[in-house]
Amino acid sequence: MTFPLKSRFAPSPTGLIHFGNVRTALFNALLSRKAGGTFLLRIEDTDAARSREEYILALQEDLNWLGLAWQEGDGTGGHFGPYRQSGRSAIYEQHLRILEGENRVYPCFCSAVELEVSRKIQASSGKPPRYGGKCAHLKPDEIASKKQQGLPYTLRFRMPRGESIRFDDLVRGSQHFPTDEIGDFIIRRSDGTFAFFYVNALDDALMQVTHVLRGEDHLTNTPRQIAILDALSMPVPQYGHISLIVDGAGAPLSKRSGSLSVQELREIGYFAIAVNNYLARLGHNYQDNRLLSLDELAAAFAIENLGRAPARYDRTQLDYWQAQALQQTDSAALAAWLGQAASQWVPEKDLENFADAVRDNVLFPHDAAIWAEAIYSDRLPMSDEALAILEETPAEFFRAAADLLARDLDFRAFAQGVKEKTGCSGKKLFLPLRAALTGQTHGPEMPRILPLIGFDRARHRLMQHVLNNDID
Ligand code: GLU
Repeated sequence: MTFPLKSRFAPSPTGLIHFGNVRTALFNALLSRKAGGTFLLRIEDTDAARSREEYILALQEDLNWLGLAWQEGDGTGGHFGPYRQSGRSAIYEQHLRILEGENRVYPCFCSAVELEVSRKIQASSGKPPRYGGKCAHLKPDEIASKKQQGLPYTLRFRMPRGESIRFDDLVRGSQHFPTDEIGDFIIRRSDGTFAFFYVNALDDALMQVTHVLRGEDHLTNTPRQIAILDALSMPVPQYGHISLIVDGAGAPLSKRSGSLSVQELREIGYFAIAVNNYLARLGHNYQDNRLLSLDELAAAFAIENLGRAPARYDRTQLDYWQAQALQQTDSAALAAWLGQAASQWVPEKDLENFADAVRDNVLFPHDAAIWAEAIYSDRLPMSDEALAILEETPAEFFRAAADLLARDLDFRAFAQGVKEKTGCSGKKLFLPLRAALTGQTHGPEMPRILPLIGFDRARHRLMQHVLNNDID
């Protein structure tokens, strides 16, 4: 029997979600969306000391904001819960009993110091560090006596010897790992908590996950996980290890090299669709270079198009998609997005027109403040360039302009009138008008902003330069 495709995102809630992990979520969500399958959210909170409820809430908010709905999992429910690993200890214990019954786990009483010494010896003889197997063959009475003495112990998984674990990675192709290179590894720590390898693999199998796309840093974990599932005779999902995201210098992307959390992106004012379009192309090739909806991104998503080379993070590319998203946002949504940056200056009735006027001149709401001020302030800030232009333009120019300004505020007709009256054209016409009316030498289109400046304010601004330049 084949199951419908089920992908998953399995974050550890120990911090806010950053670029790397949200891209993993996106790829998994696109994969299941394309196949009409299920996207599952599992919270891997076995590290009780570092996991926090606030991070779980934050990551759910991030996924919702990005539109990456999960049809099964934490907060949604489903047949295979609980979906937080902290609530699944009984399930993990139960499967440990099966492994014990098959002699695939054993207690290890080696102390941290002993393990460290053994690692150093291996390192000095050029061998990769792996558990030497000291406790692998303890007799039942030795085990009983150590337990009786109250010695702390971990549980180790017994790797098969002399075999090779093979799998076809969805992204990296055929992989094989000789089991002799993998030491017996811990699946339950001495404090009773479970290790990642075990619970992650077990949960994927129990939750009937069919596809796992995750960072390539997990590639070497995969043979261990497959060995566990084989020992339990459980199904192994198809794994695909996606390339890491690196910064401009080729180092793994970190907070220091500019990685932002999804929360920060949202607060800066990025549109979810811009973030999705950027991330979907970070390590995945799309033929279509237009801004795509999530459904379109999903329709064109293909595992074959996932690259193996590291994906380079480039903020200017992200900003490119932000500009694209701005173009297709309707006026009302744009006005709402501008929020406070606009509303502290712009009268309610003008908000949508203002948003349309500044659409090409902003990437984020705070960029709009300068234009709001340039339109509505009674004490217009002047750029140095504007001041220079204003100083070299004679008073008669502004007198003519002030006289010709009509109440319909049709900028084209107005500029034409000034041109005819003064003989100025091109830059000599438009720059002084813009400088006097906005205090800047560039900015949103004048035909859009003159009506917002309004007749009285515009006339006053022009007249000021008649007076100023007369005094000179
Ligand atoms: N909790 C693991 C992590 O955040 C999940 C890894 C996986 O996707 O298998 O790295």
